[in-house]
Amino acid sequence: MPKYNFYKAEYIWIDGAEPTKKLRSKTKVVPIGQEPPIWGFDGSSTQQATGDRSDCVLQPVFVRDDPLRGEPHKLVICEVMLVDGSPHVSNTRAACREMSARFAHHDTWFGLEQEYTFFDGIKPLGWPDNGFPAPQGGYYCGVGADEVFGRPVVEAHLENCLKAGLQISGINAEVMPGQWEFQVGPLTTPEVGDQLWMARWLLYRTAEDFPTSSGNRVSAKLDPKPIRGDWNGAGCHTNFSTKGMREDYEECLAAAEALKTRHDVHIASYGDRIQERLTGHHETASYKQFSYGVSHRGASVRIPWQVAKDRKGYIEDRRPNANMDPYVVTRLIIETVCGAADRKVGPKEGGPKYGVRATPPVAGTRTS
Ligand code: ADP
Ligand code: MN
Ligand code: MN
Ligand code: MN
Repeated sequence: MPKYNFYKAEYIWIDGAEPTKKLRSKTKVVPIGQEPPIWGFDGSSTQQATGDRSDCVLQPVFVRDDPLRGEPHKLVICEVMLVDGSPHVSNTRAACREMSARFAHHDTWFGLEQEYTFFDGIKPLGWPDNGFPAPQGGYYCGVGADEVFGRPVVEAHLENCLKAGLQISGINAEVMPGQWEFQVGPLTTPEVGDQLWMARWLLYRTAEDFPTSSGNRVSAKLDPKPIRGDWNGAGCHTNFSTKGMREDYEECLAAAEALKTRHDVHIASYGDRIQERLTGHHETASYKQFSYGVSHRGASVRIPWQVAKDRKGYIEDRRPNANMDPYVVTRLIIETVCGAADRKVGPKEGGPKYGVRATPPVAGTRTS
């Protein structure tokens, strides 16, 4: 018997901020036994509407247990809709689920490596008040209070994600001190995006509760290049595989070749300020040119050595920024890679490979 007959549902949605959207949330008290219903918010305060027609609709799409408030409370990822029921222009999930349905026969999986940086006020957590810490080299996967900063927050975040039932596959300390990573997946779309956005919300929310020695509380940022100079940026490497790639190495190579044909389109949608991060240094390839290679961490796309050895598996798109929208990035990859695969094995060349008819290219996009 619960203490009271209600649960708290934290409705989480993505706002209309440009160039990088932000998370918003508010709490609805819902009677026990009821699913979280459709709800609304004031879109004029989130860059999603004008004041005179401010109502936006929250459509629950992904519900998990709330690890912070505990039983019976819930976290609820929502799509933002217009009052007529159609997707709001800021709603990138709608296009992602449409693309996923269209290429469902490829059964595409994604594993996302979310890098982020902890801040204590305006400086990265653990950095000296004046100047810089020792140069990079010893921090990645480091141990010891002089090497890693923020581990209690990282541990609490991992615990919260697991309690919420999110599919986190690992965490690690990153190359720049104060920088960390967690991985989500492998999962299909749009769920991998739902899980990443929920894990991001939990990251911000978990960090809120941790005081720093300077009297602030810890904040997490997805800034792609938090510190200029000889310090690593933060990315969101996007590992993916289609059914074909999981069975055949040639399909892995074909996927990399397909990405090459639409490099500029992808770069333009892989997160704001990507040019600052993809410099050709700090384990990145320049945004100006596409490249791929086995084990190559200075390439746009890396084929893991194990995949080359097994002759099947997945590839890693290393280009997306930490501040990318996973609904946009996964939608684009599916469009480019699955679209090319279907065209290659279309009726002319002897029929589709996956037991379905080849799909025509999506209107308004480049087809080569
Ligand atoms: P890195 O060596 O680049 O740091 P990580 O271990 O951080 O790699 O991340 C690898 C990611 O690849 C994980 O998120 C994992 O879920 C994902 N992954 C593994 N196999 C597949 C697959 N077949 N399809 C898609 N993603 C996969
Ligand atoms: Mn990683
Ligand atoms: Mn990393
Ligand atoms: Mn990686």
